[in-house]
Amino acid sequence: MEELKDLKARLAMNRDGGAVKLNAEQKKEAFAFAEGYKKFLDAAKTEREAVSTAIEMAKERGFVEFIPGNKYVPGDKVYYNNRGKALILCVMGNDPLTKGVSIMAAHVDSPRLDLKPNPLYEDGKIALFKTHYYGGIRKYQWPSIPLALHGVIVRADGSKLTISIGENPEDPVFYVTDLLPHLGAEQSKRSLADGIRGEELNVVVGSLPYEGDLTGADSIKMNILKLLNEQYGLVESDFLSAELEVVPADKARDVGFDRSLIAAHGQDDRVCGYTAMMATLDMEEIPTKTCVTILCDKEEIGSEGNTGFQSSYLPYFIDDLAEPYGIKGRKVLSASQCLSADVGAAFDPTFASVYDPKNSCYINGGVCIVKYTGARGKSGSNDASAEYMGYIRRMLDENEVVWQFGELGAVDAGGGGTVACYIANMDVDTVDLGVPVLTMHAPLELTSKIDVFCTYKAFYTFAMRKADFNKL
Ligand code: MN
Ligand code: MN
Repeated sequence: MEELKDLKARLAMNRDGGAVKLNAEQKKEAFAFAEGYKKFLDAAKTEREAVSTAIEMAKERGFVEFIPGNKYVPGDKVYYNNRGKALILCVMGNDPLTKGVSIMAAHVDSPRLDLKPNPLYEDGKIALFKTHYYGGIRKYQWPSIPLALHGVIVRADGSKLTISIGENPEDPVFYVTDLLPHLGAEQSKRSLADGIRGEELNVVVGSLPYEGDLTGADSIKMNILKLLNEQYGLVESDFLSAELEVVPADKARDVGFDRSLIAAHGQDDRVCGYTAMMATLDMEEIPTKTCVTILCDKEEIGSEGNTGFQSSYLPYFIDDLAEPYGIKGRKVLSASQCLSADVGAAFDPTFASVYDPKNSCYINGGVCIVKYTGARGKSGSNDASAEYMGYIRRMLDENEVVWQFGELGAVDAGGGGTVACYIANMDVDTVDLGVPVLTMHAPLELTSKIDVFCTYKAFYTFAMRKADFNKL
């Protein structure tokens, strides 16, 4: 009779994989890959910076600006810049477009604090900025950490100013205050969600009064306005036409004695943005299928707006790509497959009760496939088909990509969404795939270098895939 352990080896799912499956050389490669990733994170702390950094890197690899109406041929590499906040990178493959394209879609916006349209005020001898948070933050996490200010301001005369303050060691940083414990007794009775309220996320920007005639009313605010005018030519009303984002001033750092993890802001979802982009830039030969990689904006607030994924810029781009061949864009989309490249919620042993350990992804388990996201019975989810899941797992196994699967927490513990449903709405076969993250949406999030590398490998494998997906 067959021994139980043999039966187990033959029939049961083995989840002891991940990092242990990589050899020493591959681990070294993963750590080296992380160095480039950290540089990208430090250079790209907003969606605009991610797009401009990506364009620079793409140009170095021979990508040129997309011209609608041009008939592109296999091997051509183009990029389409959507308003400086979203980007499409495209490498033309050998297959005709009627055979579909490989879409990888990640978002490069991240939860943060945005300045209000009229942010600057003075109160209690301090100058402050009012903010309105962007995306699903836990507000209590944002006080008492060094903050940087990034973004653009369009002045009344139409001229545009781009700023980044707080990233260089000699730069000042900004700061949200919290109560001292000595006076925090009443505040401590609030619920965690209410511990710091939206209107309490006020950013300290200065404290010295103007020394001229204006000493007195609003002299600290006026001193800040004077400095902003001297340094940047700004007047107060210029804040009305600005997109200014407050993000942690920290650089990406290694975590742990073994340096296996990375702590950095905005890894949801610039980690998938970077890995998908690098898979696209690193292609050594012409892919079989045309590869379309998208770095999109506004995912964290529902993919709204013309730079978000609910906008029509992707189908328009596909239309423009296909038109010179006399092919309808929708025919291309219907034959296409997509990896919705977004992060997964890694199992956190400290808060184990909100996960189903049997269906969670784990740090160092490799790239994570998420069949469905959503909340309250998969609502808002794409829920990939068995056929497409089968195609993807076969592709990863055949190419020895270390992968795992995961669900976004236990049933009814919460939930969330990705861009997967919007791509699937275009009649594209889609599944979520990405890097497991700990402390997602916090000012600094945690990922594993090995998972980042495995995700890059997964995207590269998908971009270079040869086999068609047979829908039936
Ligand atoms: Mn995300
Ligand atoms: Mn998110």
